[in-house]
Amino acid sequence: TPIVHLENVGKSYGNVHALRDVTLAVRQGEITCVLGDNGAGKSTLIKIVSGLHDYNSGTMSVNGQARHFSSPREALDSGIATVYQDLALAPLMSVWRNFFLGNEVTKGPFKVLDTATMKRIADEELTKMGISIPNLEQPVGMLSGGQRQCIAIARAIYFGAKVLVLDEPTAALGVNQSGVVLKYIVKARDAGLGVVFITHNPHHAYLVGNHFVVLKLGRVALDTHRADITLEQ
Ligand code: ADP
Ligand code: ADP
Repeated sequence: TPIVHLENVGKSYGNVHALRDVTLAVRQGEITCVLGDNGAGKSTLIKIVSGLHDYNSGTMSVNGQARHFSSPREALDSGIATVYQDLALAPLMSVWRNFFLGNEVTKGPFKVLDTATMKRIADEELTKMGISIPNLEQPVGMLSGGQRQCIAIARAIYFGAKVLVLDEPTAALGVNQSGVVLKYIVKARDAGLGVVFITHNPHHAYLVGNHFVVLKLGRVALDTHRADITLEQ
C-alpha cells in the first residue's frame, strides 16, 4: 500500500479551485516527481501533505489511515518531512544546531543530549552522507543553497522520516549544485523513503524519478511510471 495516498482530493481557496479530484500514490522507495506550470497546484499539494492546509473533499490516507492534518507537527509526527526551498534551515544558527532543530521537542532521546554529543552526531551523520562541512559552528546561512538542501535531507533521514517532500529543491541552483542535490534525493530513496520531488524541471525529474505526475490547472494530467514510458515510437 502507498505511504501517502490522495484519492479525489479537492482544495479551493474561496472560489478558486486549486486542486480538483487529485489522486496520487506515494510509495516507499519511489521518487514521485510532481511537475506543472505556475498555478497548477503544486504548492497547494505540498501544503496539504505537510499539514499547512486541510483539504475540502476526497481523502488523504497515511499508512492506510484517513488523515486531516491540523499542523506541520502532525505531519512530521506521521513521518512526513518537508524541505522548503528557502526555509529549509535557520540561517543564523550553526550547522549542528540546525541538524537537531525541530526534533528535540518530540523525539524523547534527543532532548537530553548535551552539546558535545549533538555536535558529534551531526558530524558523523553528515560525513556518512558524504556532506563535508569543515566547520559545524558556522551559521548555515554561510553555506551554499545546495549544501543547505543536503543538510535538510540528511536530517530528515536521520530522524526517521518515511516520506520526504521536496519543494523545488533545485530551482535556485546551478548545474553542479543541482547534481549534488539530485544525488541526495537518490540517497533518500535508497534509504527506503518515499520521495515527493516537486519541480519545474523535467530534466531533473527524469534524471532521478521513476514516477511522474503532471498537474495542470489543479488536475492530474498525467500519472505514469518510468517502466511505462517508451522513447521509441
Ligand atoms: P503552483 O504551486 O503549481 O504554482 P499553487 O498551488 O500555488 O500552484 O496555486 C494553485 C491555484 O490556487 C492558483 O490558481 C493560485 O492562484 C491559487 N492559490 C494558491 N494559493 C492561494 C491562496 N492562498 N489564496 C487564493 N488562491 C490561491
Ligand atoms: P497560507 O495559505 O499559507 O496560510 P496565504 O493564504 O497567505 O497563507 O498564502 C500562501 C501562499 O500563497 C503565499 O505564498 C501567497 O503569496 C500565495 N497566494 C496567496 N494568495 C494567492 C493567490 N490569489 N494566487 C496565488 N498565490 C497566492
